[in-house]
Amino acid sequence: MNLGISATEYLSLIRNGEISAEEFIASTLDRVHAVEGKVHAYITMDEQNALNKARSIDKKIKAKERTGLFLGMPISIKDNICTSGIRTTCASKVLENFVSPYDATVVSKLKYEDAIIIGKVNLDEFAMGSTTEFSYFGPSRNPWNPEYVPGGSSGGSGVSVSALECMISLGSDTGGSVRSPASFCSVVGLKPTYGLVSRYGLVSYAHSIEQIGPVARKVQDVAFVLNTIAGHDPHDDTTVEKGAVDYVEDLDAGIKGKKIGLVQQMTEDGVDKEVSAATNSAISKLQDLGAECIPISLDSIVHSVAAYYTIASAEASSNLERYDNLRYGFDLGTEGYEFKAYVSKVRSNFGPEVIRRMLLGAFVLSAGYYGKYYLKAQKVRAMMKSQIDEAFKKVDFLIAPTMPILPFKIGEKINNPLTLYLLDINTIMANLTGIPAISVPFAISNMGLPIGIQIFANSFQEKSLLQASYALQQTTRLPEVPL
Ligand code: GLN
Repeated sequence: MNLGISATEYLSLIRNGEISAEEFIASTLDRVHAVEGKVHAYITMDEQNALNKARSIDKKIKAKERTGLFLGMPISIKDNICTSGIRTTCASKVLENFVSPYDATVVSKLKYEDAIIIGKVNLDEFAMGSTTEFSYFGPSRNPWNPEYVPGGSSGGSGVSVSALECMISLGSDTGGSVRSPASFCSVVGLKPTYGLVSRYGLVSYAHSIEQIGPVARKVQDVAFVLNTIAGHDPHDDTTVEKGAVDYVEDLDAGIKGKKIGLVQQMTEDGVDKEVSAATNSAISKLQDLGAECIPISLDSIVHSVAAYYTIASAEASSNLERYDNLRYGFDLGTEGYEFKAYVSKVRSNFGPEVIRRMLLGAFVLSAGYYGKYYLKAQKVRAMMKSQIDEAFKKVDFLIAPTMPILPFKIGEKINNPLTLYLLDINTIMANLTGIPAISVPFAISNMGLPIGIQIFANSFQEKSLLQASYALQQTTRLPEVPL
């Protein structure tokens, strides 16, 4: 069974009766068993349910009953997105045994369309990190070389899709968490416009900047998933109606006559040579297809890492206050503790990165420092938004490498938070301004490690963003994952 096929290919095989949903799920589970020891993408599997669901979909197909659009495709879900039957741990000891009483809206939508959730995938604890090393369950590994990080925080999403352990995954992107693993694992990852996809059931880290986004091997599959998950949700007042947009239709419209701005602050200092070369090559391929490329300067980007970590930590410190172990958590033995001592004992069970963020967040919000840090960060955010609005008066898209450097070895940077934070320089602008951004696999380095190219569009321009990404994808011929 070829597990590397795209969603469209899968649909045609299953409709023609060449494969059954059960066979495909069973082969996917075999693949998971074969490679998990090397890559560790999953925290929890749901094998029996997945097989039962596949059988019931096969029956519906035979009986010519209504079937959902996904016809049994195997999907993995980042473990900070709630699923009613399977635990949602956020890769934290604090939620190790938490089973949500409801499905996130994106999960119910996928289930309604007969997607099969085969398991929940790894992340940095509460999605705080860029490598998936900050998981309570241990790091995920890059399928292109298991000694290297897969990116993060949605590392399990990137790994499971890249290693053919599922067809599609959902991740969350607060500051690049869908795009970073997509880039490091040679798959496609989209951060939609803020408000396009419901966050209901996504465990909040920094609610004013994060979105759930699809990860897949092909741009067309990302478009396919977006068709199902986008749109207004009465449970999430920040969502908007997407109207009648079909992201799959006209995906091959091309980019002839479009203007693309190369973001200078994302391509100059500190960018790896091979990453720069790949960016230049992507630009010349897009020019060959009829796009015009000009340099664009967005000087507020130099402040973006500081602004992002101030805002994200501030929101995190407030969002994570609910983990007091009274409503959900693990058995600590309450005997003998006075309330404050109890809560601080509970919180000592968070990992080091989460503790760092909660402390930093509480500090920047505290009286006396609020104006100096939090308010200033919000001003940077407003300045960025106005620079972005100006830029999109001149160009249709912006382009830059997704990550400034190649994947690095597990353990190499884990003790250096600031170095890790600085790696987000190219991704966080989209979160702070709300615009959509996508990472498209573009090249493989001399060492055999993936390089992704990032394209940004103006808010709610996902359709043209996906068209540009598809055009770029069609210029590449990348090797298969060596696993
Ligand atoms: N690396 C960033 C952080 O640690 C992004 C995380 C994310 O997008 N969830 O906050």
